[in-house]
Amino acid sequence: MNTQFFAAWIQEIASAVRAQRDHLTQLDAAIGDADHGANLDRGFAAAGEALAGASPQTPGALLVLVGSTLIRKVGGASGPLYGTAFREMGKLLGDTAEVSPAQLADALNAALSGVQRLGAAAEGDKTMVDALAPAVRALARAVQEGLKTEEALDAAAAAAEEGAKATIPLQARKGRASYLGPRSVGHEDPGAASTALILGALRAAGSR
Ligand code: ADP
Ligand code: MG
Repeated sequence: MNTQFFAAWIQEIASAVRAQRDHLTQLDAAIGDADHGANLDRGFAAAGEALAGASPQTPGALLVLVGSTLIRKVGGASGPLYGTAFREMGKLLGDTAEVSPAQLADALNAALSGVQRLGAAAEGDKTMVDALAPAVRALARAVQEGLKTEEALDAAAAAAEEGAKATIPLQARKGRASYLGPRSVGHEDPGAASTALILGALRAAGSR
């Protein structure tokens, strides 16, 4: 996976977020402040523009630029969290030109660590961590089992999707939704839903 692959990933995220913007906003309306769709749409559109302007030459530089742009443009809780996730991936990849599936798994693991260092959410707290952590595990397992890249990305996307749906019965313990206490039960977490979109976009970039 080269710089072009990661650029395709960001494009796929931007179009998925644009298409699901209202859905993400509705999820956030139920247990937050109804800005998650707009926040991410603004952020990933800006990330696409930043990439077009700067043409980063390595996957690492590209991901760091995406992360920095998200931190500047998204705001709320998710801006710094997603921004950190992409920056940590980029930092881990350094100046590697061609990323192997194992390196991608390590990079996603670094993203998860960054999110947890910043937001202190554990699995089960009803946040983006509930989609990201199972995706990281599924990707690492698929790599260990020697699956083809496409199948490994499929497994990661499916695990993120499942993790996001599994937030529905949970009570939120982090972020704005936690202010609702038991009333947060029965709704999918918007950040977990957007993480599933981001992992789905990774699979889409892999099958381009
Ligand atoms: P805000 O809550 O500031 O309006 P967004 O609506 O953009 O920000 O994002 C909300 C999402 O951020 C939540 O659905 C949740 O997944 C994620 N989130 C909030 N706090 C945390 C945290 N401490 N750790 C991980 N994710 C979090
Ligand atoms: Mg919100």
